[in-house]
Amino acid sequence: MKYEPVIGLEIHIELNTKSKMFCSCSAEYFGADPNTHTCPVCLGLPGALPVANKVAIASAQKLGIALHCENLLSSKFDRKNYFYPDLAKGYQISQYQEPFSLKGYIEFDVNGETVKIDVTRAHMEEDTGKLAHAEVENKKVSLIDFNRSGVPLVEIVSEPQIHSSDVAKGYAQKLQQIARYLGISDCDMEKGSMRIEPNVSLRPAGSNDLPQYKVELKNINSFRFVQKAIEYEITRQTEILEKGETPALETRGWDEIKNKTFSQRAKEMAHDYRYFPEPDLPPYLFTKEYVAELKANMPELPDEKRARFIRDYQLSTYDCALLTTDIDLAAFFEDTVKAYPKGEPKRIANWIIGELLRRLNESQTPLSSLNLVPASLAELLLLTDEGKITTASAKEIFEKMITSGKNAQELIKEFGVEAITTDKLEEVVEMVIKQNDKVVAEYKAGKEQVFGYLIGQIQRQTQGKADPKTAADLLVKKIKK
Ligand SMILES: [Zn+2]
Repeated sequence: MKYEPVIGLEIHIELNTKSKMFCSCSAEYFGADPNTHTCPVCLGLPGALPVANKVAIASAQKLGIALHCENLLSSKFDRKNYFYPDLAKGYQISQYQEPFSLKGYIEFDVNGETVKIDVTRAHMEEDTGKLAHAEVENKKVSLIDFNRSGVPLVEIVSEPQIHSSDVAKGYAQKLQQIARYLGISDCDMEKGSMRIEPNVSLRPAGSNDLPQYKVELKNINSFRFVQKAIEYEITRQTEILEKGETPALETRGWDEIKNKTFSQRAKEMAHDYRYFPEPDLPPYLFTKEYVAELKANMPELPDEKRARFIRDYQLSTYDCALLTTDIDLAAFFEDTVKAYPKGEPKRIANWIIGELLRRLNESQTPLSSLNLVPASLAELLLLTDEGKITTASAKEIFEKMITSGKNAQELIKEFGVEAITTDKLEEVVEMVIKQNDKVVAEYKAGKEQVFGYLIGQIQRQTQGKADPKTAADLLVKKIKK
């Protein structure tokens, strides 16, 4: 029997607010010594009362607006009760019945097709502490760090409308792009500020019913692993169904070394959590004016920026999609166009896509980690226009610019790649013609393919510093004489 995967995604995004969700501890805990960002509230000490972070709520609401959600004018927090050592209070403050945002969608392109997936809800909650397992004096121990406890999170839940790992990846990538554009999170999967949990199950192809079971995948820290884990589950569940059995309702982890999922625990249902309204935080009523102001202050989002690039710079949809993938890259492009006296967006786009983006992808580094400024690329293009260096040398210099952060002039001097002057080039061309009189004669007799050989000789004499077009023009002119 053929099966169709039914996939829903639950994605947690850690907000980059200065303080935590319900206390004034710093939320910038990454790399800090354990338990140095704590207080009675985030340690869950008896009698400590939470106060909600206004900026975090506004960030969650902006995300809701960007995801085309219905923004509720009323909302409240609930307690999600469960016991785990990283949860000091024995419950997590979350949202159950009235999240900040409901019923939205995310639209994105996958393999050249536009896909639209509905978002069920985007609710707020607090993060938990972190457990580390270690060995101290030959004993296995578990260590707990509460620095992360109480950091604001938004959980975005999709409808189970996804039917392939490609679409799952596209959805998660678009959500990451939107959150970064909003400036509400760095969504760094390696640091754990974006965590993806796919629910995967299978149904007979052609059926519209939801499967009677669901497997939740946890702790996956890259888009590639999300795809691999989903693919693995599709194969594993198919084998179980083929035997006439039903896969267990459970939570599974991803083992990136063995390239397989493994069972972690039986899955809880919502009623196991005994949700009830958080008595220490009053419910919220937002005015229409407040929501209108949030909407008026939204930054330009990826789709809007892409449309503006197509319109303003007359570039292809494909180029504009690449240039706007990352908000920093888009700004770099616009600033270079401004810094380069001739403008020429297409030329700059080609350099950024062909040279810069390729290297960033290869090295898996963000643009912000480089010392590259738009003025340097503009200067390099100008030097190429003036014939000071050849395009081939410019590409080499650009690569060195990216790694060293030095400017074009410095690097050109350091590596001695100034293009030779036209006067000097004329001399070289004349010399090559003289030294290769037989070949020149063949060319004159109509054997055009020897032209490349002569150009090669010129490049050899100049150590590649001749502009190829100028060299070819001079050669033609001199041979005709
Ligand atoms: Zn605290």
